[in-house]
Amino acid sequence: MPDSFTDAAEDAFAFLGDGLRLSILRALASREPRAGPRSDAIAYSDLRRAVGERDSGKFSYHLDKLTGRFVEKTDGGYRLREPGREAVRLLDRGVVDGPIDFHAAPVGARCPFCDGNVRVRYNDHHLVSYCTGCEGLFDADEVPDGTLTGIVLPPATIEGTDPESLFRRAHRVFRRRLRPMFDGICLECGGDVERSMRCCLDHGGAPGTTCDACGTASPRLAELVCGTCGRGRVSHPLFGNPGADDVGAAAGEPSERDAWNRFAAFLTWTPETTEAAAVAFERPDGGERVLLDDDLCVLE
Ligand SMILES: [Zn+2]
Ligand SMILES: [Zn+2]
Ligand SMILES: [Zn+2]
Repeated sequence: MPDSFTDAAEDAFAFLGDGLRLSILRALASREPRAGPRSDAIAYSDLRRAVGERDSGKFSYHLDKLTGRFVEKTDGGYRLREPGREAVRLLDRGVVDGPIDFHAAPVGARCPFCDGNVRVRYNDHHLVSYCTGCEGLFDADEVPDGTLTGIVLPPATIEGTDPESLFRRAHRVFRRRLRPMFDGICLECGGDVERSMRCCLDHGGAPGTTCDACGTASPRLAELVCGTCGRGRVSHPLFGNPGADDVGAAAGEPSERDAWNRFAAFLTWTPETTEAAAVAFERPDGGERVLLDDDLCVLE
């Protein structure tokens, strides 16, 4: 991402770090239809009343600062521009402020590697699921021991939902986020997604441990990165992959709707670790085989 773009984004957050400016954006947002074409602008006096700012000089000053970049001035008054709407959406999701955490909540799920209990915690905007009995899927400083998945969810989604429901919902969301990325499209920005398969040729470690060479328990992981906005995700190459929707169905494996169980089932499949362009994944009982090319497309 170009530096000028990053600088502009940082600058925008600093610029909006003022309570009155945010109140103006919120007041404008509350007058808009929830979906569909935007309607009338709000007259200056109505807007000031909605915000409740008595000091007219101060109000004008801050409204003026917002106008052009976040707010549009028309003959009928003021309305939001898309960057203003996006700022309000970020605030409503709790992304910018209001950090909340919880730790070590049990969920009714078993680890695919050791059958241990899976727990979740929420920290730094990630719902992390982890095993209490083994090293899990990822070994990294920034995640707890035994980490199996880490899924970005905003604080607004966390509040008021029990850990078990969050855990199930997060994996459904994760799967749906992955689907367009496997198709090469970023839904955040419309950019192209670069798809690749990680391969650890020196993969080692007993079941329930992570490999010293690659830091994960799986020698083959899908890496999906948007070339425009930089959004990146790592997943099992079959989970969330639209080409693999029917995989395992004949064997009575969890359906594509049962996201966590499906994710866990795929972790028990054995991938090839050769340098070949196409990689086979095999069911634990040898009953089924799926071939993926290095763009993560299912070949057979
Ligand atoms: Zn485990
Ligand atoms: Zn490895
Ligand atoms: Zn993107």
